[in-house]
Amino acid sequence: MKIGIVGLGLIGGSLAYDFRALGYTILGVSRQPQTCEDAVKLGAVDAASGDLASLAPVDVVFICTPVSVIDGIATRLIPHVSQNAILTDVGSVKGSVVKRLTPLWPRFIGGHPMAGSEETGIHAAQSRLFAGNPYILTPTDETPADVIETMKELVSQLDCNLYECSPTVHDRAVAWISHLPKMTSAALIAACLSEADPEILQLAQSFASSGFRDTSRVGGGNPELGCMMAQYNREELLRSLHQYRQSLDQLTEVIESSDWPALERLLSQTQTERPKFV
Ligand code: NAP
Repeated sequence: MKIGIVGLGLIGGSLAYDFRALGYTILGVSRQPQTCEDAVKLGAVDAASGDLASLAPVDVVFICTPVSVIDGIATRLIPHVSQNAILTDVGSVKGSVVKRLTPLWPRFIGGHPMAGSEETGIHAAQSRLFAGNPYILTPTDETPADVIETMKELVSQLDCNLYECSPTVHDRAVAWISHLPKMTSAALIAACLSEADPEILQLAQSFASSGFRDTSRVGGGNPELGCMMAQYNREELLRSLHQYRQSLDQLTEVIESSDWPALERLLSQTQTERPKFV
């Protein structure tokens, strides 16, 4: 089987490493000639170029670019691929992409590997990035059964935990555990910066240690990712943000009324429930 990867960055490059190690032929396409050259030199792909027509011989194409350009790339790619080719993407939001691409290419299936890092680009790509992490496929009622089966077989070779759900369910679930944390972590940093006394602010910055490192990590990451989440998963993100505000109000009220038993109940509940998420 030949696999095409468009967008040789962190996710595209990491998929390329793993599938190549599994014995597949990997043809890459990326925007910058330097990225293509580096991907070949690093051994991530068998060949790479900026030309989507080079993907004519492939059986499956993973589109691994930013969400905003996925459907434009698919539109330009479709005239070049064989009629049996499967197209998939790795974008962090599924509803809008699946809605736009399914009518263009019935053999399209959305996908989302829940793995990554704060770094971007081919040099951040790594082998086994997906092992042990969720990989979600988002077929619709119209997705052909053989497309779902082929993708399940292919993706499970990454040793990931495979899930299948609708694009809508995906977007609602990831709003809670990925898109909401990005915003609340950013809000935490912004709130700290509102300290009016520069001396206190400087001390707070010097005292920050592991707890602040954990809670501020995603808020201090790539701003483009947060903008994409808000733009493409707006409704679900807003729903989770409104609920988060209620949770904050509840905590504030309990503390304002010095209701320590109630605070302890709340914090015991979050302590008990956290292991169900991570
Ligand atoms: P990345 O490291 O920045 O890689 C993106 C790649 O897309 C780059 O190789 C870049 O190519 C190419 N690209 C960018 N703009 C393009 C355009 N206008 N036309 C064609 N190619 C373009 O980003 P990433 O983290 O791998 O993210 C890729 C996708 O994975 C996104 O849709 C994201 O939502 C999803 N995702 C990310 C994570 C994460 O944690 N990072 C996790 C799961 C899913 P050149 O280098 O050639 O310019």
